Amino acid sequence: MKTLKIAIQKSGRLNEKSVELLKNCGLNFENYKSSLISPVSNFPLEILFLRDDDIPEYVQDGIADLGIVGENVIQETEVDVAYLQPLGFGRCSLKIAIPNNSDISSLASLNGKAIATTYPVILNKYLQSNNIEADIRTISGSVEISPGLGLSDAICDLVSTGGTLKSNGLKPFADVMSSEAVLIGRKGEEDNDLIQELIQRVQSVLRAKETKYVVLNAPKANLDAITALLPGVKSPSVVALAESDWVAVHTVIPERDFWDRISQLKQAGAQGIVVLPIEKIIF
Ligand code: ATP
Ligand code: ZN
Repeated sequence: MKTLKIAIQKSGRLNEKSVELLKNCGLNFENYKSSLISPVSNFPLEILFLRDDDIPEYVQDGIADLGIVGENVIQETEVDVAYLQPLGFGRCSLKIAIPNNSDISSLASLNGKAIATTYPVILNKYLQSNNIEADIRTISGSVEISPGLGLSDAICDLVSTGGTLKSNGLKPFADVMSSEAVLIGRKGEEDNDLIQELIQRVQSVLRAKETKYVVLNAPKANLDAITALLPGVKSPSVVALAESDWVAVHTVIPERDFWDRISQLKQAGAQGIVVLPIEKIIF
């Protein structure tokens, strides 16, 4: 069977999480900062370490079969690739931001203004769809300093916490797109068995991240009320305890409604609640 190639960012914001995800999928490989390509010892896969900007085209052209890259980069490069799985990290938004003292007050007031960005393709589409004619100034980095230098009236840049904007005297003005890291593949290769196997592994790691394993002790008399609060993968396991009117209940809970459920469980008489991380969930 052919060895697959997956392209991930060599260094930068997505590198660490991409490596961690692949390792959590049970893939063994060396992660030397100097190497451009690293074979996986226990799966027919090679890892290519690239600049994120090159990843979508490499996947489109079949130099890599798979890639992990921000949606923003995929949209900007306008490639035709298959979106296989959003990955839940590298979340950010592409925003138009303006100086704190700017007179820009509505989208329409961007007409005729200069906007500096490293994302001219996405920005252009956004402006067109809002019928705005602005002057897009494409620059290759440090976009946030351009209004201060008098190079533009606004910027369009990636924002996660907003700290960089703030420290440059800028404020968010309009949301252009939100983005996260995604697993992409070459169009037409989605059904390949090895690719399917990798997608399954990635999904099982992501599912596990979203859920917690919960063990608790419950008075037998309240068991129905307690199990009603616990959906579980199928249904909770109930284990007898030495003390005959108590049982231990084991189950998994989605992280998002975790705190809600814990207080409801306590109210229903649960005690000794232990919450554990899960490594993988395979259906
Ligand atoms: P490379 O050297 O690979 O070209 P880069 O400098 O273009 O790296 P990074 O700054 O490492 O890229 O960002 C990689 C990706 O991380 C972005 O394309 C975006 O999807 C995501 N990201 C998440 N939060 C942010 C943020 N606050 N600023 C920029 N990118 C972010
Ligand atoms: Zn880049």
